[in-house]
Amino acid sequence: MSDFFETQAIRTQTERSQFFEHSTPLYLTSSFVFEDAEDMRASFAEEKQRNLYSRFSNPNTTEFVEKIVKMEGAESGYAFATGMSAVFSTFAALLNSGDHIVSSRSVFGSTHSLFTKFLPKWNIETSYFKVNEPNKIESLIQPNTKILYAETPTNPAVDILDLELLGKLAKKHNLLLIIDNCFATPYLQNPIKFGADLVIHSATKLIDGQGRVLGGVTVGKADLVREVYLFSRNTGPAMSPFNAWVLSKSLETLAVRVEKHCENALKVAAFLEGNSNVQLVKYPFLKSHPQYEIAKKQMRLGGNVIAFEIKGGINAGRKFLNKIKMCSLSANLGDTRTIVTHPASTTHSKLSIEDRLEVGITDGLVRCSIGLENVEDVINDLKQALEI
Ligand SMILES: *Cc1c(COP(=O)(O)O)cnc(C)c1O
Repeated sequence: MSDFFETQAIRTQTERSQFFEHSTPLYLTSSFVFEDAEDMRASFAEEKQRNLYSRFSNPNTTEFVEKIVKMEGAESGYAFATGMSAVFSTFAALLNSGDHIVSSRSVFGSTHSLFTKFLPKWNIETSYFKVNEPNKIESLIQPNTKILYAETPTNPAVDILDLELLGKLAKKHNLLLIIDNCFATPYLQNPIKFGADLVIHSATKLIDGQGRVLGGVTVGKADLVREVYLFSRNTGPAMSPFNAWVLSKSLETLAVRVEKHCENALKVAAFLEGNSNVQLVKYPFLKSHPQYEIAKKQMRLGGNVIAFEIKGGINAGRKFLNKIKMCSLSANLGDTRTIVTHPASTTHSKLSIEDRLEVGITDGLVRCSIGLENVEDVINDLKQALEI
């Protein structure tokens, strides 16, 4: 098999059936049959690699997982119903009561809730470092710290964490490094190259890329994935075969889609930088980004999300949203359709101002997930909405 990303995305395919289909069909079946008692015994004893029941594996989920495993340079993986079930099941499988996590403060909202509201029920505590203070990470490590966790680029402020540095720290202190690689996709960034033990994706975002289905996946070292798999096959967060079928097809076009998303995003970021009603633009591949050098080192392109600061604070942010004509106001991202959100008045409105500022959400911050429309139309819509 080729080492090229695009070829692997297209040519990694489940064995053909008796019908010699060209494109992988949908295997909507909850279970699989056995030849006889011995076949069944050997299959359940895992002496044979085969499908038993779709909570464990299914040809469609296996094809999807195999593609992500190759794209990320991992050893094995498991597919989940959502990104959050991937995050939760990975932590639940690997942690014991009394273990400790060191995490970036800028993580997806539900991941943050998991750390603050739910894992403490099992006596698992988390300490946080700010994205701009990676030098504080070592001081947070305790004798019971087991996992170092981060997302990069971060949501919604589009900050960048140095994966090489995180990889070195994890190795030095014998921690498991787990990276949520959702914003970058396996096309733009491979955390395993920098020392990550496991990589998690919400496939709901750019992997699907068309806002249709939810999905998640965890890939990485085989022994760790085995733990995650054993936990998951017993607790039931499996991805549905239908979603796996959709997502495996999506991966065939991931490279071309993400290239175009990034090309459009860079153009929009450059436009925003030149607009007099915009105070600050954060896009990883703009020279003005505070972690531009790190982004260049670890990412192929800058991604499709831009954060920018409108002059005039919370009211200007709300006015901007109300003037938007074509782009969508939605909480999702990584869609063909450009999406704009104003975190301070919506997704993060319940946080105190101090907590919001700690994760880089100022009152005028707007997050834009740039889609695949003609970029002129996206720029024109943002331009007219910025005329305050
Ligand atoms: C969306 C998202 C998740 C959660 O994924 P779901 O598929 O919505 O459960 C986790 N991490 C990041 C960075 C995300 O953007």
